[in-house]
Amino acid sequence: MDYDVIIGFETHVELKTRTKLFCDCPVSYEAEPNSVICPVCTGQPGSLPVLNKRAVEYTVLAGLAMNCRINEKARFARKNYFYPDLPKGYQISQYEMPLCEDGYLEILGDDGTPCPVGIRRIHLEEDAGKLVHSSNSFETSDYSLVDYNRSGVPLLEIVTDHQRNPLRSTREAKSYLEKLRQILTYLEISDCSMEKGQFRCDVNISLRPKGYQGYGNRAEIKNMASFKSIMDALDYEIGRQSEVLSSGGTVAQETRLFDEDRRITRSMRSKEDAPDYRYFPDPDLLDLGLDHGFVEGVRMNLPELPEHRVRRFIKESGIPEGEAYILTKEKGVADFFSACAPLCRDRKKLSRWIIKELFRLLNLASISIEECPVGPEGFAVLINYLAEGRITEMGGRTVLEEMFKTGAAPQDIISELGLETIKDRGLLAKAVEEVMEENPRPVSQILGGKREAIKFLIGQVMRKTRGKADPKEVRELLGKRLGTPG
Ligand code: ZN
Ligand code: MN
Repeated sequence: MDYDVIIGFETHVELKTRTKLFCDCPVSYEAEPNSVICPVCTGQPGSLPVLNKRAVEYTVLAGLAMNCRINEKARFARKNYFYPDLPKGYQISQYEMPLCEDGYLEILGDDGTPCPVGIRRIHLEEDAGKLVHSSNSFETSDYSLVDYNRSGVPLLEIVTDHQRNPLRSTREAKSYLEKLRQILTYLEISDCSMEKGQFRCDVNISLRPKGYQGYGNRAEIKNMASFKSIMDALDYEIGRQSEVLSSGGTVAQETRLFDEDRRITRSMRSKEDAPDYRYFPDPDLLDLGLDHGFVEGVRMNLPELPEHRVRRFIKESGIPEGEAYILTKEKGVADFFSACAPLCRDRKKLSRWIIKELFRLLNLASISIEECPVGPEGFAVLINYLAEGRITEMGGRTVLEEMFKTGAAPQDIISELGLETIKDRGLLAKAVEEVMEENPRPVSQILGGKREAIKFLIGQVMRKTRGKADPKEVRELLGKRLGTPG
């Protein structure tokens, strides 16, 4: 029997505001443990929360970018539970009346057409502190320490809607997460580093027989540490649940844990022991009124989003669609291309050189484009030299490698290494003669009609001139000498 898969996400994203959500402690990932804390974010009796306006703006910005309705009135609620990293015994979150509701995020669906994945709500809440155990796992630890630096850091919670275009496969789940992270980094409201815990996912999954309209029991998998783990957990669950269903069983509604070593999920707690959070409106915080002017002000700050950039790059620079998608995947790369483009005459070459040559060097050095030692101005100069034929492609690669290593300007590297393309036809003709003399076999092969041997001779001339000859010109010269057309 065939099953439909329905996948949902609750994603927690730490906002990169300067200060925390309800106090003026700085948000810092480098600070010594428990050094950026105060009575408010450690839950001391008598302290009162004061809402961070910037965090509200960031939430509304995310809501607008994900096509949500921005509620005119929003409310903060207490979510009560006990855990040592939660000093107040409750988390200030939102329950009824979240800031943003009923949006969507467009991804490319499995059928190859754009699919607007439903976003049920985006709300704002505070993060908890962090427990540091004396050994790797809680079970084997002798003691645990708590760091409250993270307590009170503003957190977005983005919840998908299982009733409006839910995610239907592991592949769609992956596109959703990539798209979500891409948009949030374009908005510059979070760095979304999974390693730093700035982007954390709970994922739920259920199966139902194809054509069936109801919903099956779902398994929720908490605190996934990487995209890879999420995808492995989903694949495992699809297999496990379809086995249970096809053997006539019922999938238990439960929370499961992903075992990072064995790459399987296992039961953690059932529906019966699901916590009751006893939500109620936080009496310390007034309802939040968002007037039209505030929302429109935030809308004015919406940056250009990836989809739009793809269209613009294609239109303004004439680059292929596939390349436009690659260039806009990360905002830093798109910004780099945008900075170079006005300085470059040949933007197709620019695009190709970023994707082929610059990416290769960045990968080798394992650094991001933000850390790239070659700036857009220098890179644009190099592309112009290439377009003018002042250096060859081979020479250009050497120049770029030097720029990458030393940070020197391309013109200085070219003159220092003598990489300028050989313009002197006489000099080139001499190199051609020499190569022909040194390689009588390929020459006679060409004369005997085996014309592809000319490639070998061109390669030899390029070697002799240390890549400074224009290969097109070399082919022409060889063609003339050997009586074969170009
Ligand atoms: Zn504080
Ligand atoms: Mn939450």
